[in-house]
Amino acid sequence: MRIAIVGAGVGGLTAALSLHAAGYSDVVLLEAAREIRDVGVGINLPPHAVRELSELDLEGELARSGLLTRELAYYDASGQLIWAEPRGLEAGYRWPQYSIHRGQLQRILVEAVGKRLGQSAIKTGQRVTSVIQESAGKVHIKAVDQFSGRSVSHTADIVVAADGIRSAVRDGLNGGVTPLASNGWVMYRGTTRAGPFLGGATMIILGDETQRIVVYPIAPGLLNWLLVRPRGPAAAAELGNWNVGVAPDVVASFVEQYRFDWLDIHRLIGSGSEAYEYPMADIDPLPRWVFGRCALLGDSAHAMYPFGSNGASQAILDARVLAYNMATSGGIEEALHGYEAYRRPVTTGVQLANRRQAGDVMEKVSAMARRGAHGDAATALQDAERSYRQLAGFDVDELNNRKSWNAQRAQP
Ligand SMILES: Cc1cc2nc3c(=O)[nH]c(=O)nc-3n(C[C@H](O)[C@H](O)[C@H](O)COP(=O)(O)OP(=O)(O)OC[C@H]3O[C@@H](n4cnc5c(N)ncnc54)[C@H](O)[C@@H]3O)c2cc1C
Repeated sequence: MRIAIVGAGVGGLTAALSLHAAGYSDVVLLEAAREIRDVGVGINLPPHAVRELSELDLEGELARSGLLTRELAYYDASGQLIWAEPRGLEAGYRWPQYSIHRGQLQRILVEAVGKRLGQSAIKTGQRVTSVIQESAGKVHIKAVDQFSGRSVSHTADIVVAADGIRSAVRDGLNGGVTPLASNGWVMYRGTTRAGPFLGGATMIILGDETQRIVVYPIAPGLLNWLLVRPRGPAAAAELGNWNVGVAPDVVASFVEQYRFDWLDIHRLIGSGSEAYEYPMADIDPLPRWVFGRCALLGDSAHAMYPFGSNGASQAILDARVLAYNMATSGGIEEALHGYEAYRRPVTTGVQLANRRQAGDVMEKVSAMARRGAHGDAATALQDAERSYRQLAGFDVDELNNRKSWNAQRAQP
């Protein structure tokens, strides 16, 4: 049985590795980029994602390329600590939390796919334009070869659409372009070569409802930062593009006031080595992910505001549950519908929670901090974090005790 995965991002690559581990050897990835480069900046992998990558035997690579995140700390806009909590092993999980460059994570996954599925498993320069399902059970995949400019086609028994927030496969299956939504805020992201702060394993979230900053180390001597602030409505064409560069000193001009003795955020951002702007974009929760023998996965299925360290994590969980269902269900249809039934309600909750996190929670907490009620603000943050962990699948006890999604298909 041939399974074609459209898109070699974090979701598609993890799906390929998970399907291979479950006993599916004929898996091919069709990737639009002519070459897979280290694009993006830092991402965070909480223990629920690390568990899955560890069960794919990748924890050694994560430990070599990423950095442990041991603490999450919230500060108000004046730099005063509101609340901090341990993360990863320190919080009682059986798996750590890592911060890592997105490109490094993608590289780890690409190398593992090369070693386990063979170098030809990833076909680059294949921009998929549509999928057509035949009554005989085959799926024809049309693509434009980015090297020759020619139309090409591929055939598979199952197609997994992991082609990101602007998924062409999703739009084709849905019969129309899925609109991207935005709250009018923009996220600036970048990295800066700089020494450690607060012990070297803390992620900080600082600010108020008017702007919010996140900083954490992703490699020795490399800090990742992001700033979110309102900018007004973005044109639809601007949404969902992760690669729009911006000068770090333009971003630094928004944070003149954030200079603390424990971290000079203005200087940190101003001396950044790279910076990008990304108008906040997501999609409304979709009513369905499975269309015959085609299934959506990752951002294609549930693009969310990049708050809460869960964009990549939820894509990883999708991949694992999809492979588990493929290995353990009676047939393809049952497997794909079982995958959707399990995952869609979870990611719908996370998508909606990320919209709330982007606004309501910060507004409430900042109002408390401004009137000096830091204790109340800490309780509100603690409650919000606890319910988010439950929603997103990383409540400590639940994660530590739930069964593994490692599974082997009965008949190869
Ligand atoms: C260039 C880039 C930079 C990013 N940077 C960050 C970041 O700094 N911080 C952050 O939190 N998140 C970032 N993200 C998003 C983050 O990686 C995802 O939210 C998360 O990992 C879920 O991954 P995914 O595999 O579903 O989608 P993605 O990571 O978006 O991967 C989708 C893949 O599909 C490919 N693709 C798209 N269209 C087609 C097509 N028609 N045919 C074939 N292939 C196609 C893309 O080239 C890409 O490789 C970035 C995504 C991209 C693509």
